Amino acid sequence: MEEIISLKNINYSYYGKIPALKNINLSVKKGEMVAIIGLNGSGKSTLLHIINALILPDSGEFLFSGNPVTEKSVNNKTYGLQLRQTMGFIFQNPEIQLFCPTVFDELLFAPLQLSLPVETAVDRAEKTLSFLDIEYLKDRPVYMLSGGEKKKVAIASVLTMNPEILLIDEPLSSLDPKTQTFFIDLLLELNHAGKTLIFTTHHLDLVDHLQPRVAVLSDEHTIQKTGTASEILNDEEFLISVNLIHEHVHKHENGEHKHFHSHYVFHKH
Ligand code: ADP
Ligand code: MG
Repeated sequence: MEEIISLKNINYSYYGKIPALKNINLSVKKGEMVAIIGLNGSGKSTLLHIINALILPDSGEFLFSGNPVTEKSVNNKTYGLQLRQTMGFIFQNPEIQLFCPTVFDELLFAPLQLSLPVETAVDRAEKTLSFLDIEYLKDRPVYMLSGGEKKKVAIASVLTMNPEILLIDEPLSSLDPKTQTFFIDLLLELNHAGKTLIFTTHHLDLVDHLQPRVAVLSDEHTIQKTGTASEILNDEEFLISVNLIHEHVHKHENGEHKHFHSHYVFHKH
């Protein structure tokens, strides 16, 4: 399969002094689903920002569809536009991506940017509102939405764009459990329909559910290991070493009960 994203020896630090990514090598093929996992501060969001060319690496090489992504290429109008239209970014914090006066304007923005006919754009926006069950928000100014509603509108605005690649930073954040389930199933459907998905998470049960290829970022901001979801999830020793699971001791009436505890969201004892 065609390699669409290729990162070679990527380094990035904020203000030249706060290291965020060190010597990252990662490639993603068209149609793949890849999870970037790691603890807070390991560099997951920074890595997604690099992939979306929102920031450029300090050193290393980033190829998008075989072409180098550099300051010069990103500033090239045609190439920059192609990059933006191919990748849709769902930010962890939806505030960052909502900028239109109303929810409906927000959903129309991408299809109109793509020069689709107005009727097609309106149709796409209306179908997406109904699909996400947020028709009632259609004419609402975006500042009059709850956090969860903002997140849904942000998701909707990326869906109306219908990008080939979806970058999703912490898919579960700000969503209630029912919407989380809906969104997770939607991600699976989109991947089955051929979309390339790259998401970040520290929830191992999400990895278990979606079965992506996994890249694990360590506290040292390097990729410690890549593998299939089951290769990663079954390597208890490794998961302990990167602090994604820890030993948990319970006291019961009949003594102590020891087991490994992950940061699973729906973890049950
Ligand atoms: P994650 O998404 O895994 O929590 P981030 O990519 O946000 O990690 O952060 C990686 C490192 O970069 C952390 O040490 C963090 O403090 C730092 N960092 C992230 N964003 C900024 C920023 N805007 N300015 C300065 N440092 C940042
Ligand atoms: Mg993050």
